[in-house]
Amino acid sequence: MNDDVQKSGSVFVYSDELAWFDFGSDHYFKPERAAKTYELCNRYGVMNYDWMKILNPECPDASILKLFHDDEYIRLLEKASNGEFSLEILERGIGTQDNPILPGIFEWSLRVTGGTVAALNRILKGEALTAFNPLGGFHHARRGSAEGFCYVNDIVIAIKDALIKSPDKKIAYIDIDAHHGNGVQEAFYDDPRVFFLCMHETGKTLYPWSGNENETGEGAGRGFTVNIPLESGADDEVFSYAFDEIIQPLLGNFAPDLVVAELGADMLISDPLTHLKLTNNGYIRAVKKVIQICPRILALGGGGYDLYRTARCWTLAWAALNNLEPVDEYAGLVGGMMFGPEMEVGSLFDNPYTNTGEAKDKAVIEVKRVVEHLKKEVFPVHGL
Ligand SMILES: [Zn+2]
Repeated sequence: MNDDVQKSGSVFVYSDELAWFDFGSDHYFKPERAAKTYELCNRYGVMNYDWMKILNPECPDASILKLFHDDEYIRLLEKASNGEFSLEILERGIGTQDNPILPGIFEWSLRVTGGTVAALNRILKGEALTAFNPLGGFHHARRGSAEGFCYVNDIVIAIKDALIKSPDKKIAYIDIDAHHGNGVQEAFYDDPRVFFLCMHETGKTLYPWSGNENETGEGAGRGFTVNIPLESGADDEVFSYAFDEIIQPLLGNFAPDLVVAELGADMLISDPLTHLKLTNNGYIRAVKKVIQICPRILALGGGGYDLYRTARCWTLAWAALNNLEPVDEYAGLVGGMMFGPEMEVGSLFDNPYTNTGEAKDKAVIEVKRVVEHLKKEVFPVHGL
Protein backbone atom coordinates (compact mmCIF):
# COMPACT_ATOMS: atom_id res chain seq x y z
CA MET A 1 0.00 0.00 0.00
CA ASN A 2 1.43 3.34 0.94
CA ASP A 3 4.76 1.83 1.96
CA ASP A 4 5.28 2.23 -1.78
CA VAL A 5 5.60 5.95 -1.31
CA GLN A 6 9.08 5.50 0.11
CA LYS A 7 10.09 3.61 -3.04
CA SER A 8 8.15 5.70 -5.56
CA GLY A 9 8.64 9.14 -4.04
CA SER A 10 6.48 12.11 -3.16
CA VAL A 11 6.41 15.76 -4.18
CA PHE A 12 5.66 18.81 -2.06
CA VAL A 13 4.99 21.88 -4.19
CA TYR A 14 6.36 24.95 -2.50
CA SER A 15 7.88 28.36 -3.11
CA ASP A 16 8.42 31.06 -0.48
CA GLU A 17 7.73 33.69 -3.09
CA LEU A 18 4.32 32.19 -3.96
CA ALA A 19 3.43 31.59 -0.31
CA TRP A 20 3.97 35.23 0.61
CA PHE A 21 1.83 36.66 -2.20
CA ASP A 22 -0.60 39.01 -0.50
CA PHE A 23 -4.33 39.14 -1.25
CA GLY A 24 -4.58 42.14 1.11
CA SER A 25 -4.64 42.39 4.89
CA ASP A 26 -8.44 42.32 5.06
CA HIS A 27 -8.80 39.37 2.67
CA TYR A 28 -9.51 35.94 4.12
CA PHE A 29 -7.37 34.08 1.60
CA LYS A 30 -3.81 33.75 2.88
CA PRO A 31 -1.37 31.85 0.65
CA GLU A 32 1.05 31.93 3.63
CA ARG A 33 -0.87 28.86 4.90
CA ALA A 34 1.52 26.98 2.62
CA ALA A 35 4.52 28.50 4.45
CA LYS A 36 3.00 27.61 7.82
CA THR A 37 2.37 24.05 6.59
CA TYR A 38 5.92 23.72 5.33
CA GLU A 39 7.25 24.95 8.69
CA LEU A 40 4.97 22.64 10.65
CA CYS A 41 5.90 19.62 8.50
CA ASN A 42 9.54 20.32 9.31
CA ARG A 43 8.83 20.79 12.99
CA TYR A 44 6.87 17.56 13.22
CA GLY A 45 9.49 15.54 11.39
CA VAL A 46 7.48 14.70 8.26
CA MET A 47 9.64 16.58 5.75
CA ASN A 48 13.19 16.06 4.47
CA TYR A 49 13.08 12.32 3.86
CA ASP A 50 15.11 11.14 0.91
CA TRP A 51 12.04 10.04 -1.07
CA MET A 52 10.51 13.55 -0.88
CA LYS A 53 11.14 16.27 -3.41
CA ILE A 54 10.31 19.95 -3.05
CA LEU A 55 9.02 21.24 -6.36
CA ASN A 56 9.44 24.99 -6.85
CA PRO A 57 6.96 25.67 -9.65
CA GLU A 58 8.09 27.29 -12.84
CA CYS A 59 5.85 29.61 -14.80
CA PRO A 60 4.36 27.57 -17.66
CA ASP A 61 3.37 29.00 -21.04
CA ALA A 62 0.11 30.91 -20.61
CA SER A 63 -1.47 28.82 -23.39
CA ILE A 64 -2.02 26.10 -20.78
CA LEU A 65 -4.89 28.19 -19.37
CA LYS A 66 -6.82 27.49 -22.58
CA LEU A 67 -7.33 23.92 -21.45
CA PHE A 68 -10.26 25.34 -19.45
CA HIS A 69 -10.62 29.12 -19.60
CA ASP A 70 -11.94 31.07 -22.58
CA ASP A 71 -9.59 33.38 -24.51
CA GLU A 72 -11.39 36.58 -23.57
CA TYR A 73 -11.30 35.78 -19.85
CA ILE A 74 -7.56 35.03 -20.05
CA ARG A 75 -6.99 38.34 -21.82
CA LEU A 76 -9.01 40.31 -19.27
CA LEU A 77 -7.35 38.59 -16.29
CA GLU A 78 -3.94 39.53 -17.67
CA LYS A 79 -5.07 43.14 -18.10
CA ALA A 80 -6.43 43.28 -14.55
CA SER A 81 -3.19 41.81 -13.27
CA ASN A 82 -1.40 44.73 -14.93
CA GLY A 83 -3.59 47.17 -13.03
CA GLU A 84 -6.29 47.86 -15.62
CA PHE A 85 -9.93 48.02 -14.67
CA SER A 86 -13.07 48.15 -16.80
CA LEU A 87 -16.69 47.10 -16.72
CA GLU A 88 -15.73 44.15 -18.93
CA ILE A 89 -13.26 42.98 -16.29
CA LEU A 90 -15.80 43.37 -13.50
CA GLU A 91 -18.34 41.38 -15.53
CA ARG A 92 -15.88 38.47 -15.38
CA GLY A 93 -15.85 38.59 -11.57
CA ILE A 94 -12.52 40.41 -11.24
CA GLY A 95 -12.48 43.54 -9.10
CA THR A 96 -15.00 42.30 -6.55
CA GLN A 97 -14.49 41.98 -2.81
CA ASP A 98 -13.87 38.23 -3.16
CA ASN A 99 -11.63 38.56 -6.21
CA PRO A 100 -9.93 41.95 -6.05
CA ILE A 101 -7.62 43.30 -8.71
CA LEU A 102 -4.21 42.21 -7.48
CA PRO A 103 -1.02 43.24 -9.30
CA GLY A 104 0.67 40.07 -10.54
CA ILE A 105 -2.30 37.76 -9.91
CA PHE A 106 -2.06 36.46 -13.50
CA GLU A 107 1.56 35.33 -13.12
CA TRP A 108 0.93 34.06 -9.58
CA SER A 109 -2.07 31.96 -10.67
CA LEU A 110 -0.14 30.70 -13.69
CA ARG A 111 2.80 29.55 -11.54
CA VAL A 112 0.51 27.87 -9.01
CA THR A 113 -1.18 26.09 -11.92
CA GLY A 114 2.26 25.14 -13.23
CA GLY A 115 2.93 23.52 -9.84
CA THR A 116 -0.30 21.51 -9.91
CA VAL A 117 0.28 20.38 -13.50
CA ALA A 118 3.95 19.49 -12.90
CA ALA A 119 3.09 17.53 -9.75
CA LEU A 120 0.42 15.53 -11.59
CA ASN A 121 2.86 14.89 -14.43
CA ARG A 122 5.40 13.44 -11.99
CA ILE A 123 2.74 11.02 -10.75
CA LEU A 124 1.66 10.09 -14.28
CA LYS A 125 5.26 9.41 -15.29
CA GLY A 126 5.78 7.22 -12.21
CA GLU A 127 8.34 9.63 -10.75
CA ALA A 128 6.22 10.03 -7.61
CA LEU A 129 3.37 8.11 -6.02
CA THR A 130 1.82 11.14 -4.39
CA ALA A 131 2.08 14.93 -4.35
CA PHE A 132 0.69 17.88 -2.42
CA ASN A 133 0.33 21.45 -3.62
CA PRO A 134 -0.90 23.49 -0.65
CA LEU A 135 -0.84 26.59 -2.87
CA GLY A 136 -3.36 25.11 -5.33
CA GLY A 137 -6.93 23.85 -5.35
CA PHE A 138 -8.89 26.74 -6.86
CA HIS A 139 -12.10 24.79 -7.38
CA HIS A 140 -14.44 27.80 -7.84
CA ALA A 141 -12.81 29.40 -10.90
CA ARG A 142 -15.21 29.13 -13.85
CA ARG A 143 -14.46 28.84 -17.53
CA GLY A 144 -15.16 32.51 -18.13
CA SER A 145 -15.05 34.15 -14.71
CA ALA A 146 -13.34 34.45 -11.35
CA GLU A 147 -15.19 33.76 -8.13
CA GLY A 148 -14.78 32.56 -4.55
CA PHE A 149 -11.13 33.77 -4.25
CA CYS A 150 -10.27 31.69 -7.38
CA TYR A 151 -8.97 33.21 -10.62
CA VAL A 152 -7.54 30.19 -12.46
CA ASN A 153 -8.81 26.65 -12.00
CA ASP A 154 -5.52 24.78 -11.60
CA ILE A 155 -7.45 21.56 -10.84
CA VAL A 156 -9.41 21.41 -14.09
CA ILE A 157 -6.36 22.42 -16.12
CA ALA A 158 -4.19 19.69 -14.54
CA ILE A 159 -6.87 17.01 -15.03
CA LYS A 160 -7.48 18.06 -18.66
CA ASP A 161 -3.72 17.98 -19.27
CA ALA A 162 -3.58 14.49 -17.71
CA LEU A 163 -6.46 13.27 -19.90
CA ILE A 164 -4.53 14.35 -23.01
CA LYS A 165 -1.28 12.72 -21.87
CA SER A 166 -2.83 9.57 -20.41
CA PRO A 167 -6.25 9.09 -22.03
CA ASP A 168 -6.68 5.59 -20.59
CA LYS A 169 -6.36 6.59 -16.94
CA LYS A 170 -9.43 6.53 -14.72
CA ILE A 171 -9.43 9.71 -12.63
CA ALA A 172 -11.50 10.42 -9.51
CA TYR A 173 -11.79 13.92 -8.08
CA ILE A 174 -12.60 14.08 -4.38
CA ASP A 175 -13.43 17.37 -2.72
CA ILE A 176 -13.87 17.65 1.06
CA ASP A 177 -13.61 21.44 1.22
CA ALA A 178 -16.61 23.01 3.00
CA HIS A 179 -17.62 24.74 -0.24
CA HIS A 180 -19.04 22.97 -3.28
CA GLY A 181 -16.44 22.51 -6.04
CA ASN A 182 -18.62 24.22 -8.65
CA GLY A 183 -15.87 25.08 -11.15
CA VAL A 184 -14.63 21.50 -11.34
CA GLN A 185 -18.17 20.13 -11.54
CA GLU A 186 -18.93 22.47 -14.44
CA ALA A 187 -15.86 21.26 -16.36
CA PHE A 188 -16.65 17.54 -16.17
CA TYR A 189 -20.45 17.47 -15.76
CA ASP A 190 -20.98 15.46 -18.98
CA ASP A 191 -17.64 13.61 -18.90
CA PRO A 192 -17.55 10.06 -17.47
CA ARG A 193 -13.73 10.01 -17.60
CA VAL A 194 -13.62 12.01 -14.37
CA PHE A 195 -15.63 10.81 -11.37
CA PHE A 196 -16.51 13.95 -9.35
CA LEU A 197 -17.24 13.26 -5.66
CA CYS A 198 -17.89 16.26 -3.43
CA MET A 199 -18.82 16.66 0.26
CA HIS A 200 -19.64 20.16 1.43
CA GLU A 201 -21.86 22.38 3.50
CA THR A 202 -25.29 22.66 1.91
CA GLY A 203 -25.86 25.48 -0.56
CA LYS A 204 -28.80 26.51 1.60
CA THR A 205 -26.36 28.20 3.99
CA LEU A 206 -23.07 28.63 2.11
CA TYR A 207 -21.57 30.00 -1.11
CA PRO A 208 -21.61 28.89 -3.96
CA TRP A 209 -25.22 27.88 -3.17
CA SER A 210 -24.94 24.79 -5.40
CA GLY A 211 -23.99 21.11 -4.99
CA ASN A 212 -27.46 19.75 -4.39
CA GLU A 213 -27.75 15.93 -4.28
CA ASN A 214 -29.85 16.13 -7.48
CA GLU A 215 -26.85 17.39 -9.45
CA THR A 216 -25.57 14.02 -10.70
CA GLY A 217 -24.13 14.77 -14.15
CA GLU A 218 -25.67 14.78 -17.61
CA GLY A 219 -25.43 12.88 -20.89
CA ALA A 220 -22.57 10.38 -20.84
CA GLY A 221 -21.53 11.83 -17.49
CA ARG A 222 -24.78 10.94 -15.76
CA GLY A 223 -23.97 9.33 -12.40
CA PHE A 224 -20.35 10.54 -12.49
CA THR A 225 -21.09 13.67 -10.45
CA VAL A 226 -21.94 12.99 -6.82
CA ASN A 227 -22.75 15.74 -4.34
CA ILE A 228 -23.21 15.21 -0.62
CA PRO A 229 -24.51 18.41 0.96
CA LEU A 230 -24.26 18.50 4.77
CA GLU A 231 -26.29 20.60 7.19
CA SER A 232 -24.48 23.20 9.29
CA GLY A 233 -24.62 20.96 12.39
CA ALA A 234 -22.63 18.17 10.71
CA ASP A 235 -19.65 16.98 12.76
CA ASP A 236 -17.06 14.19 12.45
CA GLU A 237 -19.71 11.54 12.97
CA VAL A 238 -22.09 12.81 10.27
CA PHE A 239 -19.23 13.44 7.85
CA SER A 240 -17.75 9.97 8.38
CA TYR A 241 -21.15 8.31 7.97
CA ALA A 242 -21.68 10.00 4.59
CA PHE A 243 -18.13 9.20 3.53
CA ASP A 244 -18.44 5.52 4.44
CA GLU A 245 -21.89 5.07 2.92
CA ILE A 246 -21.30 6.90 -0.36
CA ILE A 247 -17.72 7.88 -1.19
CA GLN A 248 -16.04 4.70 -0.05
CA PRO A 249 -18.19 2.21 -2.02
CA LEU A 250 -18.34 4.38 -5.15
CA LEU A 251 -14.62 5.09 -5.13
CA GLY A 252 -13.71 1.48 -4.38
CA ASN A 253 -15.97 0.24 -7.17
CA PHE A 254 -14.66 2.80 -9.68
CA ALA A 255 -11.08 1.76 -8.79
CA PRO A 256 -9.37 4.91 -10.08
CA ASP A 257 -5.81 4.91 -11.39
CA LEU A 258 -5.41 8.35 -9.91
CA VAL A 259 -7.15 10.57 -7.38
CA VAL A 260 -7.07 14.35 -7.41
CA ALA A 261 -8.15 15.53 -3.96
CA GLU A 262 -9.11 19.02 -2.84
CA LEU A 263 -8.31 18.94 0.87
CA GLY A 264 -9.67 22.31 1.97
CA ALA A 265 -9.61 22.61 5.75
CA ASP A 266 -12.55 24.98 6.08
CA MET A 267 -14.94 22.30 7.35
CA LEU A 268 -13.22 22.61 10.74
CA ILE A 269 -15.40 23.87 13.57
CA SER A 270 -13.03 26.81 14.03
CA ASP A 271 -13.27 28.09 10.46
CA PRO A 272 -14.55 31.67 10.39
CA LEU A 273 -16.36 31.38 7.03
CA THR A 274 -18.30 28.12 7.28
CA HIS A 275 -20.66 26.30 9.65
CA LEU A 276 -19.58 22.66 9.65
CA LYS A 277 -18.21 21.22 12.87
CA LEU A 278 -15.45 18.83 11.99
CA THR A 279 -12.21 18.32 13.87
CA ASN A 280 -8.89 17.06 12.56
CA ASN A 281 -10.11 13.56 13.42
CA GLY A 282 -12.92 13.50 10.85
CA TYR A 283 -10.70 15.21 8.29
CA ILE A 284 -7.71 12.89 8.50
CA ARG A 285 -9.89 9.80 8.74
CA ALA A 286 -11.36 10.66 5.32
CA VAL A 287 -7.93 11.41 3.85
CA LYS A 288 -6.56 8.06 5.08
CA LYS A 289 -9.52 6.17 3.62
CA VAL A 290 -8.94 7.73 0.22
CA ILE A 291 -5.25 6.74 0.43
CA GLN A 292 -6.27 3.17 1.28
CA ILE A 293 -8.39 2.93 -1.85
CA CYS A 294 -5.94 4.70 -4.16
CA PRO A 295 -2.49 5.80 -2.92
CA ARG A 296 -1.76 7.53 -6.24
CA ILE A 297 -2.98 10.98 -5.18
CA LEU A 298 -2.46 14.57 -6.14
CA ALA A 299 -3.61 16.54 -3.08
CA LEU A 300 -4.40 20.24 -3.25
CA GLY A 301 -4.93 22.84 -0.56
CA GLY A 302 -8.05 24.86 -1.37
CA GLY A 303 -9.93 26.59 1.44
CA GLY A 304 -9.09 26.98 5.12
CA TYR A 305 -9.37 30.37 6.79
CA ASP A 306 -8.17 29.55 10.27
CA LEU A 307 -4.50 29.87 9.36
CA TYR A 308 -2.80 27.71 11.99
CA ARG A 309 -5.42 24.98 12.18
CA THR A 310 -5.43 24.73 8.41
CA ALA A 311 -1.66 24.26 8.50
CA ARG A 312 -2.15 21.55 11.09
CA CYS A 313 -4.70 19.70 8.96
CA TRP A 314 -2.42 19.87 5.96
CA THR A 315 0.56 18.68 7.98
CA LEU A 316 -1.48 15.64 8.99
CA ALA A 317 -2.49 15.10 5.35
CA TRP A 318 1.12 15.28 4.15
CA ALA A 319 2.16 12.84 6.88
CA ALA A 320 -0.61 10.41 5.88
CA LEU A 321 0.31 10.66 2.19
CA ASN A 322 3.84 9.66 3.17
CA ASN A 323 2.76 6.96 5.59
CA LEU A 324 4.35 8.81 8.50
CA GLU A 325 3.24 9.69 11.99
CA PRO A 326 3.92 13.32 12.96
CA VAL A 327 6.35 13.53 15.85
CA ASP A 328 7.24 16.65 17.79
CA GLU A 329 10.99 16.59 18.31
CA TYR A 330 10.48 18.19 21.72
CA ALA A 331 7.32 16.52 22.99
CA GLY A 332 7.45 13.04 21.49
CA LEU A 333 4.34 11.63 19.83
CA VAL A 334 1.81 14.41 19.70
CA GLY A 335 -1.47 12.83 18.69
CA GLY A 336 -3.11 14.73 21.52
CA MET A 337 -1.84 18.06 20.31
CA MET A 338 -2.58 17.47 16.67
CA PHE A 339 -5.94 15.81 17.05
CA GLY A 340 -9.09 16.01 19.09
CA PRO A 341 -8.92 17.78 22.42
CA GLU A 342 -7.40 20.98 21.19
CA MET A 343 -9.98 21.12 18.44
CA GLU A 344 -12.85 21.43 20.88
CA VAL A 345 -12.68 25.14 20.55
CA GLY A 346 -16.17 26.12 19.43
CA SER A 347 -16.54 28.34 22.47
CA LEU A 348 -13.48 30.40 21.53
CA PHE A 349 -15.24 31.60 18.43
CA ASP A 350 -18.36 33.58 18.02
CA ASN A 351 -19.97 30.94 15.85
CA PRO A 352 -23.74 31.28 15.71
CA TYR A 353 -24.10 27.61 14.81
CA THR A 354 -23.12 26.13 18.14
CA ASN A 355 -23.30 22.37 18.14
CA THR A 356 -26.64 22.07 19.84
CA GLY A 357 -28.55 18.82 19.93
CA GLU A 358 -31.14 20.23 17.58
CA ALA A 359 -28.61 21.19 14.88
CA LYS A 360 -26.97 17.78 15.14
CA ASP A 361 -30.33 15.99 14.95
CA LYS A 362 -31.22 17.93 11.83
CA ALA A 363 -27.85 17.12 10.26
CA VAL A 364 -28.37 13.40 10.96
CA ILE A 365 -31.89 13.34 9.48
CA GLU A 366 -30.73 15.22 6.38
CA VAL A 367 -27.62 13.14 5.77
CA LYS A 368 -29.64 9.92 5.96
CA ARG A 369 -32.07 11.29 3.40
CA VAL A 370 -29.24 12.36 1.06
CA VAL A 371 -27.48 9.00 1.42
CA GLU A 372 -30.68 7.09 0.57
CA HIS A 373 -31.30 9.38 -2.40
CA LEU A 374 -27.81 8.82 -3.81
CA LYS A 375 -28.00 5.06 -3.28
CA LYS A 376 -31.19 5.02 -5.33
CA GLU A 377 -30.15 7.45 -8.06
CA VAL A 378 -26.40 6.95 -8.52
CA PHE A 379 -25.42 3.49 -7.27
CA PRO A 380 -27.32 1.64 -10.06
CA VAL A 381 -25.37 3.57 -12.72
CA HIS A 382 -22.27 1.87 -11.27
CA GLY A 383 -23.84 -1.56 -10.88
CA LEU A 384 -24.14 -1.20 -7.10
ZN1 LIG B 1 -13.84 26.31 0.90
